[in-house]
Amino acid sequence: MPGRNERTKKRTCITALLCATAFLLAGCAAAKEPQRYEQTFFDVFDTVTMVVIYDTSETDAAARIQEAHELLTEYHRLYDIYHTYDGMNNLCTVNENAGAAPVAVDEKILDLAAFAKDMDALTDGRLNVAMGSVLAIWTDYREAGLEDPDNAALPPMELLEQAAEHMDIDDIVIDRAAGTLYLADADMRIDVGAIAKGYAVEQVMEQMKSEGVTSMLLSAGGNVCAIGTRPDGTNWQVGIQDPYSGGYLKVVNVDGRSLVTSGTYERYYTVDGEDYHHIIDPATLMPSTYYDSVSVLTEDSGLADALTTGLFSIPLDEGMALVESLDGVEALWVSQDGTQTQSGGFSAFATDYES
Ligand code: ADP
Ligand code: MG
Repeated sequence: MPGRNERTKKRTCITALLCATAFLLAGCAAAKEPQRYEQTFFDVFDTVTMVVIYDTSETDAAARIQEAHELLTEYHRLYDIYHTYDGMNNLCTVNENAGAAPVAVDEKILDLAAFAKDMDALTDGRLNVAMGSVLAIWTDYREAGLEDPDNAALPPMELLEQAAEHMDIDDIVIDRAAGTLYLADADMRIDVGAIAKGYAVEQVMEQMKSEGVTSMLLSAGGNVCAIGTRPDGTNWQVGIQDPYSGGYLKVVNVDGRSLVTSGTYERYYTVDGEDYHHIIDPATLMPSTYYDSVSVLTEDSGLADALTTGLFSIPLDEGMALVESLDGVEALWVSQDGTQTQSGGFSAFATDYES
């Protein structure tokens, strides 16, 4: 029997494929009108990635899709904390050299590290990519628990607290002049799982825009980003998943914007009948207990990804104040009691989902 994790993944894949089929059916247009082209990839950021593009030329569309895929592959490799690749230093190399030596890295890694520090400041440390050692313990226990559910266990707090002594964001040292990244604490590890996908999607879409693309949708797991509208002027519409039923809560117009959702249903394991998900509150070192999902709608996909994870560990009134203080950012929170709360401008973009 497949594990829950596997079932969740399968459900995500099936949802994406159903969307893909719906897109294809909608894809007829008159000659010389922009046509719809799309492709799905399974090899970047450990998720299902779908690209939809409208173009008058099939050759141009294919070239853009290929370019987007190549760029995403490059970002995936640079930001991979689990594997190294021949001929490049990536974040895995940086982690391996913690406390030992600065590592010469591509500018794209320095840019991500700088962005991560900004997001740490914005979320008052609730989104902290320096928590890698704490997160690795949770990942080990979760994977062991999924492998052998009868013996699933929680990590001992003592172990988590020891690791938490090594999560000072200031120990991530960016040297632009030397082109290096250094972890100044030998026991610290960087984990960019909360921001890398959204940040990469944003960079790819900026590149596409700079090349003149006017109508495109890129969806990498829960990270969706749009350029423009569809050529007939209709909105790109994206569903927000219901964390409980697997159906949809809302349909959101994402024209020119990005919609990102983090949810407890994405990755979790069960210990003594309780589910423990993958977003860890730095204050408690335990899975955050406020929400079952948080969605953010804003232009910048990197900001959206960082905020969804950061907001997960921020109480509602404080999170609302943060969102309302940011220009052009809207959010939807689903609290663990099922209550939905929207920021002031969210409803202008969203409608209830009718099945
Ligand atoms: P997903 O990758 O499932 O779409 P998120 O963007 O919310 O979801 O990122 C979750 C990942 O972020 C976790 O798997 C873990 O690697 C990392 N993470 C968890 N809690 C934190 C945190 N408080 N700060 C930084 N990263 C975190
Ligand atoms: Mg995130």
